[in-house]
Amino acid sequence: MPVELPSPPAKSKLAANLAKLGLYSDIDLVLHLPMRYVDETQLITIQRAGSLGGEMVQVEGLVTACEVQYKPRRQLLVTIADDSSQLVLRFLHFYGNQITQLAVGNRVRARAEIRHGFFGPEMVHPEYKVVNENTPLPVQLTPIYPSGVGISQTTLRRVISAALQRINWQDTLTPELRDRFKLVEFDNAVKLLHNPSVSTDMFSLENRSHAAWRRMKFDELLAQQLSLQRAQFSRRRKSAPSLAGVGKHTTAFLRSLPFALTCAQQRVLEEIRTDIGATYPMQRLLQGDVGCGKTIVAALAATQAIDNGYQATLMAPTEILADQHFRKIAGWLEPLGISVVWLTGSLKKKEKQNARDQIESGTAQLVIGTHALLQDNVKFARLGLVIVDEQHRFGVDQRLTLRNKGNDLNFTPHQLMMSATPIPRTLAMTYYADLEISVIDELPPGRSPIMTRVIDQERRSEVINRVGAAAADGRQIYWVCPLIEESEALQLQTATDTHSMLQEALPELKIGLVHGRMKPAEKQTVMADFISGTTQLLVATTVIEVGVDVPNASLMVIEHAERFGLSQLHQLRGRVGRGTAASVCLLLFQAPLGGIARQRLMTMRSSTDGFEIARKDLEIRGPGEFLGARQAGQAMLRFADLETDQELVEQVRGLAQKLLEDATHNLPEASEIVEAHLLRWMNRKEEYLRV
Ligand code: ADP
Ligand code: MG
Repeated sequence: MPVELPSPPAKSKLAANLAKLGLYSDIDLVLHLPMRYVDETQLITIQRAGSLGGEMVQVEGLVTACEVQYKPRRQLLVTIADDSSQLVLRFLHFYGNQITQLAVGNRVRARAEIRHGFFGPEMVHPEYKVVNENTPLPVQLTPIYPSGVGISQTTLRRVISAALQRINWQDTLTPELRDRFKLVEFDNAVKLLHNPSVSTDMFSLENRSHAAWRRMKFDELLAQQLSLQRAQFSRRRKSAPSLAGVGKHTTAFLRSLPFALTCAQQRVLEEIRTDIGATYPMQRLLQGDVGCGKTIVAALAATQAIDNGYQATLMAPTEILADQHFRKIAGWLEPLGISVVWLTGSLKKKEKQNARDQIESGTAQLVIGTHALLQDNVKFARLGLVIVDEQHRFGVDQRLTLRNKGNDLNFTPHQLMMSATPIPRTLAMTYYADLEISVIDELPPGRSPIMTRVIDQERRSEVINRVGAAAADGRQIYWVCPLIEESEALQLQTATDTHSMLQEALPELKIGLVHGRMKPAEKQTVMADFISGTTQLLVATTVIEVGVDVPNASLMVIEHAERFGLSQLHQLRGRVGRGTAASVCLLLFQAPLGGIARQRLMTMRSSTDGFEIARKDLEIRGPGEFLGARQAGQAMLRFADLETDQELVEQVRGLAQKLLEDATHNLPEASEIVEAHLLRWMNRKEEYLRV
């Protein structure tokens, strides 16, 4: 099937401005769809306009006066008149050439809301154009496009309609498929969306429920599914070392554990073992609420890799977390004779070199670290398993880099990603369609639920007393300082101030302070003191958000909780409730609360279920933000909305599967559809999907 190829990038200023909007080719232009429309098809008399208020209206008249006025400030006042009445157009900002355009005697068509000023009805900053008596009114709704600096709506309309005409926009879907899924033709759909006739229901255009929009969403989702599922197919064709045997280290490790695995842990471990036993690379996401015990599962996967003669690596997003993993896992595995090596940016040059040497020679069996692992000079001898903790903290490219560290051996290591941020179903089916997912849906026994209370900041002194009492009881406490997004300096200042304030109020306590600007070694000392119980209270910024595990900590205070996002609050709160003592989380807020902040805090109070909270979070924030810009690459879904288009997602998923299956069985029609569709929709974007 002939398909439109992207036209070579022109070097003009226009091309540069279009590029800023991500528009490089004809297909980009055609898929640059309006965000709304205006109705310029109707004119009303000035008299009638004057009797209305607050509505958008369009009038036409001859300019009877045009003058710059200087009081109370410089402005351009233009009076226009038709047979019925007259009206003032007021411009508070204007250019010299507007005075010429709007010279007395010219005919002007102006559109704006009517306001009633001192001198009668007026329009402030109307959209206008100079016309003559015969200039026809448009017969279609006027599209308004997402735009940027240096490019006007008129220009966009011009280049887009040129692109629309340049090519015969063949349908990538057959009539049979369009029929089955009740889809309008692609060609008609894009034409309608760019130039809807005045009889088109504007509401269904703007809320994107119109059949033409449905076609766009369907196509977009189909491209995404095809691309993800194809990536999955091609992954299956890569080879990976089979790490099937459960050997002596794993057995000894299991025997040495002071507790039994929960049923959920056993189940996911089986799933992982099946995967890493295969000869193509695993790509599995291990999901489980904070505190459910993912680390031990990861360690068991690692020992299995080691038992099979391969290296494993675990990467964590922060030094604190990597350090904690290292201590814990080395504590488990070193007694079994496994060599666990630690690599982070904060190591001294010589220590780093030493670690790298062990990694490269293969004497390091398990390597734990931070982003430092991604550096070019880190080379593994026989990397068989890559584990990424808190995977959503890393970009797609970073995970790829780590995975490619085993490439020298002509195979791809298995990859296990872990996350406590549960991915809601629709997201799992779309953005993460290429992942197998394991869920630990059970907490280790003996945990008592966390009680959450929402408290006005005014009652801070009561809260401080409560902290003192808890410490006297032998419990440990986190005090989380407010998030100050605007200024890191201010955030540090606040943390230091809070630390001294608490030390003054509770002189008998040993209080630690940890924040993002401390040197890794300092952080480690502070954390170690808290873990050992030397300090009872730990004042912290959000650096403790991920992974920190101190089971004896059972009270958490979060100041200005209204400034945090839901998943962040859930992560923070997950630092308590890890031991057997009943845990409490106090969310201090500053009144008055906005609507969204109230919703979030109420959700936190009523639920400790990470899935429920993630669902709410998605509802409040939308998927783009949920995924984070880095994760999503670009906004991959521009048209479909995962909340409202769930049904479409399901239909499309099935179709994508079928098409790819047919294509692999050499049904020419299916492969044509797949190729043409991906070319049309994935133009340059597919890279981001190759997780
Ligand atoms: P997360 O899933 O949040 O990473 P961790 O792996 O840090 O959770 O585990 C939380 C705590 O629970 C740790 O102290 C860990 O040793 C403990 N733990 C893990 N599995 C079990 C189990 N089956 N029984 C009892 N305690 C467990
Ligand atoms: Mg963890």
